[in-house]
Amino acid sequence: MPELPEVETVKSGIAPVMEGRVIAQADVNRPDLRWPFPDRMAERLTGKRVLGLRRRSKYILVDLDSAETLLIHLGMSGRMLISGHTVGEFHHPHPAPAKHDHVVLHMDDGARITFNDARRFGAMDLMETATQEDHWLIRDLGPEPLGNAFNEAYLIARLKGRNTPIKSALLDQRIVSGLGNIYVCEVLFRAGIHPACKAGQISASRIATLVPLIRDVLSEAIAAGGSSLRDYRQTDGELGYFQHVFQVYDREGEPCVTSGCDRTITRIVQSGRSSFFCPQCQR
Ligand SMILES: [Zn+2]
Repeated sequence: MPELPEVETVKSGIAPVMEGRVIAQADVNRPDLRWPFPDRMAERLTGKRVLGLRRRSKYILVDLDSAETLLIHLGMSGRMLISGHTVGEFHHPHPAPAKHDHVVLHMDDGARITFNDARRFGAMDLMETATQEDHWLIRDLGPEPLGNAFNEAYLIARLKGRNTPIKSALLDQRIVSGLGNIYVCEVLFRAGIHPACKAGQISASRIATLVPLIRDVLSEAIAAGGSSLRDYRQTDGELGYFQHVFQVYDREGEPCVTSGCDRTITRIVQSGRSSFFCPQCQR
């Protein structure tokens, strides 16, 4: 499932293909994904020039010259494929239409962006650019973890007195937006904090250490995604999925990476999701 760094990578991959170009044709091959597509979506995209791409949380936002913004969510299995455009030294010819190609955007220079989503948990919507902060998927989101509004004082204040486990608090999109299960596990390992610790019982100084660790973990993953773009040789032009090396995530039973620690990584289930941690290093 794509998390913030993967979404950032996909955005960086499609931005040079879309920015400044006109969407000459939009094929919308079904009425919905996770939710119904907006009314007349193909018509509202066709002939519109793309002013720029942004990311908010796990959403890609495409600003159009019609004063509307296209919101794209990759969901669980959504993939963006670029064809007819040279990325780095790689040029991918247009593929034959495939099952689950739900939306295809034909740019005016012949490039094509295909949104393929086998499980259909992805989404697309159109909104007025001016009022995008009011969109129901965006309005309750907390600050971006890489933005200035997310800082030590903010996080200490938001977690004060909370009885929820720190793992659940960091996954709460109203507190910080875009953090998912994988990166929260990695951050808590680096911080040496047990995922079941009650958020409100962790000292302010330990909470403060989480902020730079969150930024580091996400920035490293975004950098890895960037190098996967420069090294762009997948035959189908697919973006955003690359091999990461995790210290605890999905490593149940494997040795802890901390030197001098002889324990193995443990998995527990919290709110229906797996938490991976070292019982020696995280307390
Ligand atoms: Zn350990």
